[in-house]
Amino acid sequence: MAMKSDRAAWLKAGTVCCSIQPNVSKPRRLVLLGAPGVGKGTQAELLSQRWGACHLSTGDIFRAAMTFDECERTPTMSRALEHMRRGELVPDEIVLGLVSERAGCLRCRGGFLLDGFPRTVAQAEALEKTLADQGVALDAVLSYDMPIEKIVSRLAGRRTCKLCKAVFHVESRPPRVADVCDHCGSALYQREDDRPESIRVRMEAYTRSTAPLVEFYRQKGLLISISAEGSPEEIFERTRQALDGRD
Ligand code: AMP
Repeated sequence: MAMKSDRAAWLKAGTVCCSIQPNVSKPRRLVLLGAPGVGKGTQAELLSQRWGACHLSTGDIFRAAMTFDECERTPTMSRALEHMRRGELVPDEIVLGLVSERAGCLRCRGGFLLDGFPRTVAQAEALEKTLADQGVALDAVLSYDMPIEKIVSRLAGRRTCKLCKAVFHVESRPPRVADVCDHCGSALYQREDDRPESIRVRMEAYTRSTAPLVEFYRQKGLLISISAEGSPEEIFERTRQALDGRD
């Protein structure tokens, strides 16, 4: 198994460097698309563990910023978090600013798995330019597909560990003790944006702004559609086979 990066450069940006650099012979550079809750974060984690590619999630940048004291957040970040709490997309200029501060992560030796970015056509176009500036290109775009009703039930039952960020589900993957993480014993919580009102707003944002990216990448010959039904391992196996078929 390849050693994964610690993602400090992505989560904290600035002059912060990752303490562990992945070292893999065939770096993969992928975008993962799919509605919120479809399981692309879990797939990104699995792909990252198996291949050493760095899991780059823009949502994780915002969640990391939420743990800072208010006085440590820039006014721009505070504005971004207000959008996030309501389930809305954060405006493109803020997201693109954050990604450009971290553009060096796109040159990571292990490759990258972009999760939750791009989410609009404007972001996808900006990503093309940033990748060209960094001298790298996408290998493929994985689109994880599942009916919206199933996704909503997944999101509403999702619980996340405050400390280690492990993800559970009240019905399909309950913790051994209610509201306590099996791995580290910390409290589980429901993300603010997994509450019913935010879920509705997020799904609307997805349909309006992110779904058009499927066609955007299909036209570029990069799209691979993958059913997101089944266990994470089954979906991972489908992903691996689909990618091997392209090699
Ligand atoms: P995620 O964990 O990817 O579902 O992201 C959680 C929230 O962060 C989203 O509902 C948005 O409010 C915000 N967010 C993350 N990535 C983006 C992005 N690329 N564009 C706009 N908003 C984003």
